[in-house]
Amino acid sequence: MINPVYQTVIVGGGFTGLFTALHLAHTYYPRSIILIDKNERFCFKPLLYEYFSGQMESFQVVPRFSNLLKGSGIIFVQDTVQSIDLQNQQVKLASKNTYQYSNLVLALGSVTSYLGVEGAKENALPFWTQQDAIAIERHLRDCLQRAVKIADPQQRQQLLTVAVVGGGPSGVEMVATLADFLPHWYSALGGNSQEIRVVLLNHSQEILNGDLNNPLRSIAESELQQRAVPIEMLMEAEVTSVRPNAVEYKRDERIETLPTATTIWTAGTATHPLIKDLAIPQAHRDKRNRIQVTKTLQLPDFPEVFVGGDCAAVEDMTLPPTAQVAYQQGATIAHNLKAITIGEELKPVKVNIRGTLLKLGLEDAAANLFNTFELMGKPAHLIRQATYLTLLPTPIHNFKATKEWLNEEIFQQHFGNQNVGKKVAQAVELVSAGVVGVLVARKLLKMLGDDEQN
Ligand SMILES: Cc1cc2nc3c(=O)[nH]c(=O)nc-3n(C[C@H](O)[C@H](O)[C@H](O)COP(=O)(O)OP(=O)(O)OC[C@H]3O[C@@H](n4cnc5c(N)ncnc54)[C@H](O)[C@@H]3O)c2cc1C
Repeated sequence: MINPVYQTVIVGGGFTGLFTALHLAHTYYPRSIILIDKNERFCFKPLLYEYFSGQMESFQVVPRFSNLLKGSGIIFVQDTVQSIDLQNQQVKLASKNTYQYSNLVLALGSVTSYLGVEGAKENALPFWTQQDAIAIERHLRDCLQRAVKIADPQQRQQLLTVAVVGGGPSGVEMVATLADFLPHWYSALGGNSQEIRVVLLNHSQEILNGDLNNPLRSIAESELQQRAVPIEMLMEAEVTSVRPNAVEYKRDERIETLPTATTIWTAGTATHPLIKDLAIPQAHRDKRNRIQVTKTLQLPDFPEVFVGGDCAAVEDMTLPPTAQVAYQQGATIAHNLKAITIGEELKPVKVNIRGTLLKLGLEDAAANLFNTFELMGKPAHLIRQATYLTLLPTPIHNFKATKEWLNEEIFQQHFGNQNVGKKVAQAVELVSAGVVGVLVARKLLKMLGDDEQN
C-alpha cells in the first residue's frame, strides 16, 4: 500500500527539471517540491563553450542550484538517483535515502555514447558537463605547456594536434572555438601558433547532416576556414579506434592514423541508463529506447509520472533533443502538475522551434531566426549571447549575467586601444547588433510567454 504523501519529486535539474521547478515556484503550488540532481550546479550546456574558453564566468554558465532556488521554497537535494520504482512510487538515492512521491518528473537528460568504438571511452574526452569542460581545458593547457619545451617536431606536432570526432553542432562549435583560442594560448607561452592543428572527423559526407542546424551548413563551412588557424575537415571518416596518442579511422576503404594527444568525442548520445532500466515494455519505447509519453507528457500506465527533455519521445511528435524543447516541456509539465492540484484539465505540450544559433568561433556565430532569416558574424554572435543571457534562469541571475556581459563585450574588449573614429563606428555597429539581439530575445520571450498562457 502506497503511503499517501503529497510531494512532487523532480529527478534531474537540467533544462526540463529546473525550469519545471522554477515555473512551479512562480505559481501557488500547494505541494512540496523536491529537486534532486547529482551536481551542485545547473549546467547551461549551450554556453559551455564560452565557459571553457574563458569568455564567461561560472556564475553565468554553471550557477549553483542553491543560488538559483534561494527563496523559492523548493528543496534541493544534491545526490545521485540510483533507482526508480514506479510501482511503489519511490526514488532511491546513492546516499541510501529514499523519497516517496505523489508526482514524479523524470528529467535526467541523456548520456554520451561511444558507439562501441574501441578505446573511445577510455581515451577520448567527452564534452557534456562542467567537469568535462574543466578536464578538456586542463588537458589542453598541459599539452601546450609540454609542446613548447619539446624540440622534436613530430612529438611536438602530436601534442599540438586536436582531433574532434563528430560533425554535428557540438563538434562544429567545438572545432571553431578551439581553432580561435588555442593559437592564442600557445603564442602566449612563446610557441608558434601556426603549428596548432584542429581536425574534425565526420562519418558522413557533410557536417550538420540531418540536424536542425543544417540550413546553416554553408555559412558554417566557410566560417570554419576563417578561424585563427583553418580547420582540417576529414569527411566520410569512420573512427575505428582511439588510443592515448592517436586516433584511427577508415576512409576510402583504407585505415589511417592521425597522431594526436587529444581526441574530443562529440559523436553520439544515448538514452540515460536509469530510463533504460525503468520497468516499461519495449512496445512503449522508441527505437532509441526513450520512453513514449502522452501529449500531456505523462507515462500512459503511470499518469502521476511526467517525462520531458532528452528522456521523452512524445506521442505523434518528432522533436530534436535540444534545450529549447526541454525548456518548453518543463513549462507544460509545471502547468499540468498545478492543474492536477486544482482539478483542471491537463494541456497538451506545444513546442515551437524558434530557429537555431550556432557558435562559430570566439566572436563569430550563425543564426537561423524563426526559419525566416539567417545572420552570420558579429551580429549573430551578439544575438546568440543576448538570447541565451535573457533565457538564463531567474531574473536576478539574468540581470547580473547580462550586466557583466555588456560591460565585458561593449566597453572592455572593443574600446581598448583604438582611435576615436574607429571606436564610434564600432560602437554603432555593436550597439545596433546588440539592439537587434535584445529585440530578438524579447520576441523569443514573448513567444515563450504566449506559450505559457496557452
Ligand atoms: C555541449 C552541448 C551543447 C549544446 N548546445 C545546445 C544548443 O546550442 N541549443 C540547444 O537547444 N540545445 C543544446 N544542447 C542540447 C541540450 O543541452 C539538451 O538537449 C538539454 O540540456 C536537455 O535537457 P534535459 O532537461 O533533458 O537534460 P539536461 O539538461 O542534460 O539535465 C539533466 C540533469 O540530470 C542530472 N542527472 C543525470 N543523471 C542523474 C542521476 N543519476 N541522479 C541525479 N541527477 C542526475 C544531470 O546532472 C543534469 O543536471 C547542447 C548539449 C551539449 C552537451
